[in-house]
Amino acid sequence: MDFNFPESILNYRDKVKEFVDLKVDSCSLRIEKEDRIPPDIINEAKALGLFGLSIPPEYGGIGTNMVGKCLIFEQLGRTNNGFTTVFGAHNGVGTVGIVKLGNEEQKRRFLPLMAKGEKIGAFALSEAESGSAAVAIKTKAIKKGDNYVLNGCKTNVTNGPIAGVITVLAVTDESKGSRGITAFLVEKDAKGLSIGSVDRKMGLKGSQSCSVILEDCEIPEENILGKEGEGYVNALKVLANGRVGLAARNLGSMQKLMELSMQHASMRRQSGNSLSKYQAVQHLLADISIEVEVTRSLTYRVAWMVDQGLKVLKEVAIAKYYASEAYSRVVDKAMEIFGGLGYMKGVPVERFYRDARVARIVEGTSGIQKNIIAEQLFKEFDGSSKVY
Ligand SMILES: Cc1cc2nc3c(=O)[nH]c(=O)nc-3n(C[C@H](O)[C@H](O)[C@H](O)COP(=O)(O)OP(=O)(O)OC[C@H]3O[C@@H](n4cnc5c(N)ncnc54)[C@H](O)[C@@H]3O)c2cc1C
Repeated sequence: MDFNFPESILNYRDKVKEFVDLKVDSCSLRIEKEDRIPPDIINEAKALGLFGLSIPPEYGGIGTNMVGKCLIFEQLGRTNNGFTTVFGAHNGVGTVGIVKLGNEEQKRRFLPLMAKGEKIGAFALSEAESGSAAVAIKTKAIKKGDNYVLNGCKTNVTNGPIAGVITVLAVTDESKGSRGITAFLVEKDAKGLSIGSVDRKMGLKGSQSCSVILEDCEIPEENILGKEGEGYVNALKVLANGRVGLAARNLGSMQKLMELSMQHASMRRQSGNSLSKYQAVQHLLADISIEVEVTRSLTYRVAWMVDQGLKVLKEVAIAKYYASEAYSRVVDKAMEIFGGLGYMKGVPVERFYRDARVARIVEGTSGIQKNIIAEQLFKEFDGSSKVY
């Protein structure tokens, strides 16, 4: 594995870190209160190129490889996770499908605008009765002339309220199960598309999700992404890519929590000593540091494997599982170090505490990651060789 990053990506990483640590952090309370990202912050993010991380330069983006994207996502994870999620969803499931599967006409039509943040991407798979069991979706697409007519309701679509283009998964042939699902690029002004009210969530304030309702929504045939019937298989690949990004974002949050905890432990004095002098507190910090380093190793290793074109289904699931579970453990320990202060509104640890929980649910729950890991283990297992 080669982690000698080019100078250009390291310089870009430093600029992103400065932006999140100074600008985004300072308006985090406003984001929490208004449950939206202030327009001036979005404009600065546009100017920094943060909407084009997955989009190749010929379509106006920065187009880093997976390792480079993780470097940037790690910086985004340092700040308000609601802000981070807008970019995670856009640069992950929102654009990766178009980059990898779109035809030239689709790429030219969507990607330059998406790279500039003028069209924000979203991905709509989940439905009320189909979350983990994604293959059970009920949204239907029926061919009518050169169009498809979509009917159904998608739930919890991140970026739905601000999206310019949504990748919608729908059943085109019920008799074929997972091979009968197709992905459609649905634009925000499509007739028959309506956006539900913004979900009221426990955390991730600023990242808006909602239902997406399709009522006789006519989508031209040329908006099929990939081939008819390959939507589900492709969605799994797009989700796998998104999960690596999520692991990197979780890593950034853990790194930030470690820094905040060290700072607090050094400054806070109790019974005549700085907290940092107590072994109980030192051990909490050591535990946090171990979680950060294990997550870092898993995340960058799998990102490197993605860049080599290796088979990564199991490794992605392991990294996503570990990063999201470790994030919850780390934020709990950080809260322990902060004591009562950590439980107070306005203190970053309190916000991270609420935001951490969802990492174990979105882009496939921890249970689903374990299913993938076990399934792949048995596929790799050579039952014929004797081990005992
Ligand atoms: C903030 C937020 C943003 C989201 N954004 C999007 C988005 O942009 N696009 C989108 O399509 N969806 C989105 N989702 C939906 C998300 O993908 C689902 O919530 C997630 O996949 C879990 O599905 P579910 O909520 O229906 O839970 P369920 O599938 O009902 O699962 C409930 C529990 O049962 C377990 N379980 C279920 N089936 C199995 C099984 N076969 N084996 C073992 N355990 C199992 C799960 O692990 C979980 O613990 C979002 C959700 C949230 C909360």
